[in-house]
Amino acid sequence: MASGPSLRDDISDVIVTEEQLDAVLDRLAASITADLAGCDPVLVGVLTGAFMFMADLVRRLDFPLQIEFMRARSYGEDTRAGELTIVMDLSCEIAGRHVLLVDDILDSGHTLAALARILQQRGAASVRTCCLLDKPARRAVAFEADYVGVRIPDRFVVGYGLDYAHHHRHLPFVGVLRPELYRDQHQESSQRHEVRSSDA
Ligand code: 5GP
Ligand code: MG
Repeated sequence: MASGPSLRDDISDVIVTEEQLDAVLDRLAASITADLAGCDPVLVGVLTGAFMFMADLVRRLDFPLQIEFMRARSYGEDTRAGELTIVMDLSCEIAGRHVLLVDDILDSGHTLAALARILQQRGAASVRTCCLLDKPARRAVAFEADYVGVRIPDRFVVGYGLDYAHHHRHLPFVGVLRPELYRDQHQESSQRHEVRSSDA
């Protein structure tokens, strides 16, 4: 195949390299193993952003567990926790089960806080949360994840599961898009809003 323009060229700054992701995943897997091995937990990935993180994380967990996914929709940055809608639900009962919610990034905190509360209300024996990335500067609700991969500054990032207008999810690292690509869309803030509101 002829070598054309590379998606890598769309990235101005790499925030988390593939090598760093490897080390972060090893560390998270060790902590999760210490806490959850032996209780046959349900790992719940939040689609779509967590698909790659989930796949790499579970390959490092050498104990029995169940893999599930949920998809939620929120309505922009002002979303209150109660306004989150589940558009794809679990395929199993979680009453009495130990749950680990796995998401790509903890931003305002609304998504993980709301999902954790919903699973608790369904009678889960315990609900823990894990995020690959954490932007503490953006937190709108008092919520911290139990397992945090990397704390990053308040920048809109793509790659390793995270998208901008449905693209760039499959980059194997986390980076910041070149600003021209936002400007080309002539509507950065509404695009960002749309990304957030269509897929929590
Ligand atoms: P929260 O409910 O914590 O505000 O939102 C978390 C969700 O917002 C993430 O799962 C992700 O889908 C989206 N999000 C937050 N920050 C970013 C970002 O920097 N880049 C991308 N692509 N999505 C983000
Ligand atoms: Mg998400």
